[in-house]
Amino acid sequence: MKQNAFLQFVIGSRLRNRFALFAVLLAVSPVLALGGVSLFLIDLSHRQDVSALELQMINQKIEEIEKFFADTLGILEIRVGFEQRSEIELSQQEFLLEGLLEENKAFEEVSLANLAGQETAKKIRSDETSDLLNVSQLEKFKNAAAGKNFIGNVYYTLSGPMVTIAAPVLNRGGDIIQIASAEVNLVQISRLIEGARLGTVGYAVLLDRDGSVVAHGSSASVVPGTDVAWLSRVRAILGGATLNTLDEKDRYRSFFSEADVIGAGKKIPGIGWAVLSEWPIEDADALMQDIRNEVLALALFGILAVLLLAPFFAGRLIQPIRVLEEGAAEIARGNFEKQVDVKTGDELEDLGTAFNKMSNGLKRLKELQEEFVFIAAHDLRAPVTVIKGYISMLFDEEEENLSPKAKDYLTQVGRGADRLAQLAQDLLIVARSEAGKISIKVASIDIEDIVNESLLDVKSLAEEKKMSVEYIPFDGAGKVLADAERAKEAMVNLLTNAIKYTKEGGKIKIFHEIKNGSFITHVQDNGIGIPKAEQEKIFQKFYRAPSVKVADTGGTGLGLFIVKQLVEKMGGRVSFKSEEGKGSTFSFSLKLA
Ligand code: ADP
Repeated sequence: MKQNAFLQFVIGSRLRNRFALFAVLLAVSPVLALGGVSLFLIDLSHRQDVSALELQMINQKIEEIEKFFADTLGILEIRVGFEQRSEIELSQQEFLLEGLLEENKAFEEVSLANLAGQETAKKIRSDETSDLLNVSQLEKFKNAAAGKNFIGNVYYTLSGPMVTIAAPVLNRGGDIIQIASAEVNLVQISRLIEGARLGTVGYAVLLDRDGSVVAHGSSASVVPGTDVAWLSRVRAILGGATLNTLDEKDRYRSFFSEADVIGAGKKIPGIGWAVLSEWPIEDADALMQDIRNEVLALALFGILAVLLLAPFFAGRLIQPIRVLEEGAAEIARGNFEKQVDVKTGDELEDLGTAFNKMSNGLKRLKELQEEFVFIAAHDLRAPVTVIKGYISMLFDEEEENLSPKAKDYLTQVGRGADRLAQLAQDLLIVARSEAGKISIKVASIDIEDIVNESLLDVKSLAEEKKMSVEYIPFDGAGKVLADAERAKEAMVNLLTNAIKYTKEGGKIKIFHEIKNGSFITHVQDNGIGIPKAEQEKIFQKFYRAPSVKVADTGGTGLGLFIVKQLVEKMGGRVSFKSEEGKGSTFSFSLKLA
């Protein structure tokens, strides 16, 4: 039972499903739109965040590198206290260079040269000695002699990348008196780059101005000095472009980590090097993926809730319509007492009220109709009785004075009057039965007496058609609970039909049986039978089979309707079996007394 209710809920009705679908569309589209838009916005802001983080890291590294060079060059920019333009005393030079090595651990070698380009003193950290060379043709000398600080190209040694820097030595008046230069190892810068992190696996790469790798933080085994200038991104960045991760091209497969990354890059203005950042997408978008999943789960939950709740609410919405529909069906079945109870406080309640008014009107109409039929049928009886009375008086007292033609006419009038009387009686019973005014007094009666009395009633009719009528009384007490008069009415009706719808010389058999505690009477004929298509209609009021054979016989179409009403009011059932051309058996049951 519970399962049925659930099934009912799932299947629903057409209107409910249409409402539900409407509600689902109405509720789901904003959920989807909202979900889509928020995902889009979150994604957008996430991309901005990634970009900001990468550029921030790059800028920080650039600042640190610039500071490193500012510091190292600052140390190399020697100022002497005298005003003359002569070189520093040799012993002083040695002492100065010792101090420089002491002061900056990045210096591997420091030297001083005079303005002709001849080195005058040199100190190497590893204590090796080296010849003093003429450096007048070197870039470092030319730049420093022209008063400019110089940072050379990176060169790669076994102990790591190195760079040559040079600066002029100035006297108190600001005149250049010598040139100082140093070979600087870039270990410190390498560490800076290697230690930089974005998320858990994002890293930085430092390139020199030729596009060779100075240092990188990826786990790949790319050694310092590896040339990557052939990468178009690298060329673009060294050419001065700043890549900020926001372009589609900033998502690519990395040469370093061999993963799909989001990359940025910027050139260091003063020295022409470049810092790159690369953040594997999987890591960068991990949080985004979580958010995406959560939004999706929420949206799904919302949709599911709507899917479940929509049919429920739609069902409640159309409940009053169902009530009205059932009410209308009840009216169609002829129950004009039906009133519906719709309390929705809206147009549906108005409809319910109108419905109740309509059903009241129909009830009144039916009452009027019944009243009319009742009065008409009742008032018909008196004149018919008068007609029948005078006709029989004419036959009794004036027969010899009547011409054969007059007798024939009077016989026809008599038959017509009989039929009119029958109709009036049938109508009265129907009207009484429908008004619930038919009086049934059930008592224990002998059904065999009823059958015998009825047979007497139809005797002349049967003889007229030369019927053989056989009655098999029940072997035992045929006592049933019934109203004698009504039972006889039913019996006469069935017998009349059997005679009417059987050819001359036909056979009629009446017999009884006890079945399931009921006493059943069968009236069997071998007449015209009832076609299959007609069978379900023959108990309807005024129904007569449309065949010619039936049309030939007189009748109102009320007989079987009355039989059914009467028998059922006595607590019994009417049924029949019939085959076209072979005959019919009508049966009615009554309760055993
Ligand atoms: P009526 O006899 O006045 O036509 P009934 O209500 O008694 O009305 O019968 C309804 C219809 O059922 C008949 O018109 C006829 O077509 C069919 N019918 C009733 N009884 C028989 C029968 N014994 N054999 C064949 N048809 C029958």
